[in-house]
Amino acid sequence: MPKLSIQDLDVRGQRVLVRVDFNVPLGADGQITDDSRIRAALPTLDYLLERGARVILCSHLGRPKGGPDPSMSLRPVAQNLTELIHRPVAFVDDCIGEKVEKTVAILQNGDCLLLENLRFHPEEEANDPVFAKKLAAYADLYVNDAFGSAHRAHASTEGVTRFIKQSAAGFLMEKELKYLGEELDRPERPFVAILGGAKVSDKISVIESLLDKADRLLVGGAMAYTFLKSQGIRTGGSLVENDRLDVSKRILDLAEKKGRRFLLPADHVVARRVETDRLDKKGRKIVEFQDAKPSADASIEEGWCGVDIGPRTLADYQSALADARTVFWNGPMGIFENKNFAKGTYEIARAVAGRGGVKSIVGGGDSVKAIHSSGLADKITFLSTGGGASLEFLEGKTLPGVAALTDK
Ligand code: AMP
Repeated sequence: MPKLSIQDLDVRGQRVLVRVDFNVPLGADGQITDDSRIRAALPTLDYLLERGARVILCSHLGRPKGGPDPSMSLRPVAQNLTELIHRPVAFVDDCIGEKVEKTVAILQNGDCLLLENLRFHPEEEANDPVFAKKLAAYADLYVNDAFGSAHRAHASTEGVTRFIKQSAAGFLMEKELKYLGEELDRPERPFVAILGGAKVSDKISVIESLLDKADRLLVGGAMAYTFLKSQGIRTGGSLVENDRLDVSKRILDLAEKKGRRFLLPADHVVARRVETDRLDKKGRKIVEFQDAKPSADASIEEGWCGVDIGPRTLADYQSALADARTVFWNGPMGIFENKNFAKGTYEIARAVAGRGGVKSIVGGGDSVKAIHSSGLADKITFLSTGGGASLEFLEGKTLPGVAALTDK
């Protein structure tokens, strides 16, 4: 890696500001419902604490609207972390100010302090230099282990590095860059990429970049319907981005020109959409489906929507994965939140995890969720923690949080 690694730093007795991604889901009672993001930072934290660093952790949580919001406090994380690292974690209810200054001043070697949610200050997302300088003033060294936030130039990911002499990547950050970078740039072949999810528009650049790297691309989820429609195939009431038909066609032409196999569903699970009168928590109309059945072929009748890949497609995709040496998967194959339409996604999870000796890399919240809930996490080579950041990195974009680290 061209950037400083945490292992290049001399951390003993130093105050180390560590940007972590503790953006964990909280239940109605304020308890953490899934602490995997906290666990993912443990290698970096253990390394620093064992070497006698004075660790100051900072993170965002949720999207507070311009000020403190107790429902998005990081306080419950301090408790959880105390149990995970078997030592007390101090907590201050702000991330800058006098209280922080006083607590940092009495930190001893091997102590750990967690600061309150960075986004309680709008200056964090605005990358305000005054705010960044205040954060930087508490530390001698900076470590960024929040890959999931590295695609944003915020005060704690970019601004702060201008005021600290050495800024390095933590272990989680290094792992993300290794697997999404080196491993996919120089894959063992055949390299098969599976893409799904709601929108083609979100993933056009990723698909283009994968066309340069992967031998086969398997497409599922709603984004498949835009591709099918661009080929003149009927898609009924399926979710289609009509303003992306041209670009979808262009991508299919490009795949052919490059000699890549670009597989689209040959059949589907289809269902009728029913708008109900109920609203969900966000005030959106709840949509229900009825009469689910497999379609006969790739075309979908009027009045029906594609909600999952069909049995023939699943078999095709499983055989396209059979001899793969490297697999990358991002995005569900259908509306997997509904168990009637989840089979495609869960079977793909099994196919990705199923064989030894294959380098499997899974990115994106929904695919990672499907892997975890199938109990397959230990059979995957690498589960990426960064949704948007993983996609931007795969597109070949420079991530501001990575670019800002000190060159080796
Ligand atoms: P993304 O965030 O782009 O990966 O999209 C994930 C979402 O796509 C999930 O909430 C799925 O329910 C949704 N999705 C997948 N397949 C379909 C489909 N056939 N129709 C509508 N939504 C879908």
